[in-house]
Amino acid sequence: MRVAVVGSGPSGCYTAQSLVQLDSEVFVDVLDRLPCPYGLVRYGVAPDHEKIKSLQGSLRTVLEHDRVRFLGGVRVGGPGGVPVRRLRELYHAVVYCVGAATDRHLGIPGEELPGSWSATEFVAWYSAHPDAVEAGFLTGVRSAVVIGVGNVAVDVTRMLARGAAELSPTDMPQAALSTLAASGVREVQMVGRRGPSQARFTTKELRELGSLPDTEVAVDPAELALDPAYADPSGLPAPQRRNVEVLRGWAERPPAEAAHHIRLRFCLRPVELLAEGGRVGAVRFERTAPDGQGGVTGTGRFEDVAAQLVLRSVGYRGVPLEGLPFDTASGTVPNVQGRVVRGSAVSPGEYVAGWIKRGPTGVIGTNRPCAKETATSLVADAPALVRKAVPDDPLAVLRAAGIEPVPWAGWQAIERAEAALGASLGRSVVKLADWESLLAAARTAAP
Ligand code: NAP
Repeated sequence: MRVAVVGSGPSGCYTAQSLVQLDSEVFVDVLDRLPCPYGLVRYGVAPDHEKIKSLQGSLRTVLEHDRVRFLGGVRVGGPGGVPVRRLRELYHAVVYCVGAATDRHLGIPGEELPGSWSATEFVAWYSAHPDAVEAGFLTGVRSAVVIGVGNVAVDVTRMLARGAAELSPTDMPQAALSTLAASGVREVQMVGRRGPSQARFTTKELRELGSLPDTEVAVDPAELALDPAYADPSGLPAPQRRNVEVLRGWAERPPAEAAHHIRLRFCLRPVELLAEGGRVGAVRFERTAPDGQGGVTGTGRFEDVAAQLVLRSVGYRGVPLEGLPFDTASGTVPNVQGRVVRGSAVSPGEYVAGWIKRGPTGVIGTNRPCAKETATSLVADAPALVRKAVPDDPLAVLRAAGIEPVPWAGWQAIERAEAALGASLGRSVVKLADWESLLAAARTAAP
């Protein structure tokens, strides 16, 4: 059986792994739009989270399995991409593991002002994503507002407070490192629309903010107390209770001198981004009050927070893939245990795993059971799927159509080029940040 897995992030790799483990006769091609594998592990996990980044080692083992083949630089769907329908003809089954490729919007006036960016755009820049833009994110910025209190908000807040010494051992591209290290950002306010007990960050990530060198983390106890669970957190589930305890500890500390100040704010919802000199100058928030049912209501009281940089970190969102059904409300592909549903019926040979299957939640490890469920469905369907005639080798068909994928050896050549770049800069590995350099490096691989 020949299976295509579209996307080489954690969900794609775990799907390929489950498939080869569950079926000794399956051959898996893992296709990726980029010449580089690993998806958000390479392009989303913060560069200073070396331990999580090291997961690339176990994903590599999957892609080097003798029944798994990496085909980089192959776009599926969209302009110039292999149409979904065509891909379906080349394989007995296709599993879409394409993640949640865009960000959610706030839908408030001023959102598109210069200086207002989605966290996704900022993360892509410092992670060397080849589609990222060098947008002068930090030019003239003294204070920043991060909207949202999830783990991505914590990541971007932390990166804004990091100095050269901490960034230099990472694989961050040199230009982003120099910009961040030289930035004039002194204050970052990270703002949640609900109370501290409803924040989405995890305690480990929250605590890390408190251990940043030369950085003060401040929380206003009066603002925390707007959340009734703050006074008595005993009824909260353990993760939320731990968050509240960490915040309480910070709220009780006296102010301190530091180069960077991080302020965690709660019960403020953004209503407008205000312009100053043609770009964002402040965010107008409305004070909220808990509604007793986990939500909040507006109070009609407003507060403007000055910021020359606004990072909107309010979650990711799945993008429809032409030729696949899509549920716009959830931003996912309708499915039953990973089997794609078209109309009211399961579509034979089409599957999903990861964020495009269940929405953008959970940590990397959450993708393991999710992928396993999908692979199990596929393997159960295999007797019917293999009745379909497919080409002996889909790669030959792709090549005949003018598509020349970047093979695993091409990726290994990129890795060597990144190690060489790092060595030339007196750093360890440094990522190549543009399409041209990535493809040029890939071409140096022996045929
Ligand atoms: P998230 O956890 O869903 O957090 C989104 C945040 O945005 C929440 O605070 C949410 O508030 C807020 N928000 C949503 N709409 C809003 C609006 N209109 N106005 C104001 N605030 C709004 O999303 P994420 O931070 O992007 O993370 C995505 C997933 O990746 C999560 O599962 C996360 O744990 C994971 N991740 C993990 C790590 C790690 O383990 N180190 C790092 C990065 C990401 P409400 O709760 O009120 O909706």
